[in-house]
Amino acid sequence: MSSNITHEIDIVTVPSSKINTVDFENLSFGTVFTDHMFVCDFKEGRWHKPQIKPYEPFLLDPSAKVFHYGQAIFEGMKAYKDDQDAVWLFRPDQNLDRFNKSAVRMAMPEVPEDIFMSGLHQLIDLEKNWVKKGLGNTLYIRPFMIAVGSGVIAAPSTQYRFMIILSPAKSYYSGEVKVIIAEHYSRAANGGIGAAKAAGNYSAQFYPTKLANEKGFQQIIWTDDATHTKLEEAGTMNVFFRINDTLYTAPTSERILDGVTRKSLIDLAKRDGIKVEVRPVLVSELIDAAKDGSLKEVFGTGTAAVVNPIVGFSYQDNYYELPKIENSFALELKNKLTNIQYKLADDTFGWTVKI
Ligand SMILES: *Cc1c(COP(=O)(O)O)cnc(C)c1O
Repeated sequence: MSSNITHEIDIVTVPSSKINTVDFENLSFGTVFTDHMFVCDFKEGRWHKPQIKPYEPFLLDPSAKVFHYGQAIFEGMKAYKDDQDAVWLFRPDQNLDRFNKSAVRMAMPEVPEDIFMSGLHQLIDLEKNWVKKGLGNTLYIRPFMIAVGSGVIAAPSTQYRFMIILSPAKSYYSGEVKVIIAEHYSRAANGGIGAAKAAGNYSAQFYPTKLANEKGFQQIIWTDDATHTKLEEAGTMNVFFRINDTLYTAPTSERILDGVTRKSLIDLAKRDGIKVEVRPVLVSELIDAAKDGSLKEVFGTGTAAVVNPIVGFSYQDNYYELPKIENSFALELKNKLTNIQYKLADDTFGWTVKI
């Protein structure tokens, strides 16, 4: 066992598991949690001894900074079970790296690698019955950190809690996704916190997304805040466009989150001879390509849904429908990625890590 997963953890287990009360065939995403959670507190300038304990609510002071100033970050990752009952993570080093970048941007302490990785490995090992075999069954992993120090002075907290909670999930199919291209609202701005998985980025999307929902659209394609002429992300996912047989996606930036799914799909596409161009994509290019028929696909990418095909988009009150195509890049790349995650295909990139 590598030493970065053997950090000593106090473990208190539940007297009896609630797993038999869970209907694994009808899981609604992110609503059921496993028996245990991982907790590690930062105070007096250092991380204290971590714990794994029964999943349960906990008390915070009403003046805790997280309630007032939103000092909170998170990650989203998954564990998969192969045919031999082994459980695997996918590129957890990337999530740790991004988590700590988010922490720095939010003036929070970085979580040491051995605490993060030991928490993940030991908690998932304890809960491995919750990871079901078969394509589409996963354990969604939610590491997060909140400012728990009390006092309403608008300054960074001196106390933080890092936690990991686990939720069994079925691969989720979001139905037909139609999107609106943002002309007014923005998800992120240069110099802002868009590149961090900071809680406030998501609450800031709720209202414009609600307006889009009221018009019959499920998501928003965010554009750059300064000019609204460049296509950046789709909801909480990175976004790809296929024009003829080339895939386009914007470079990551202060406004565009560095998705693990995005970069893995770029590597897979390139390996298998699909042409990928990472460069800013203009709204005008998309409209032109939709009009002349060269626009074949638009899809979002992220850990939760892996690949989310978009069936049409609206811009300046005109609706453009995407063609229904066989052999989509979206499905091809999704299958290739999930086959690696479930150990059904060779992991030539060395992305998977055994629990
Ligand atoms: C988490 C997230 C993504 C996707 O990242 P993955 O690592 O692929 O899950 C994309 N955009 C935003 C804004 C996100 O929060």
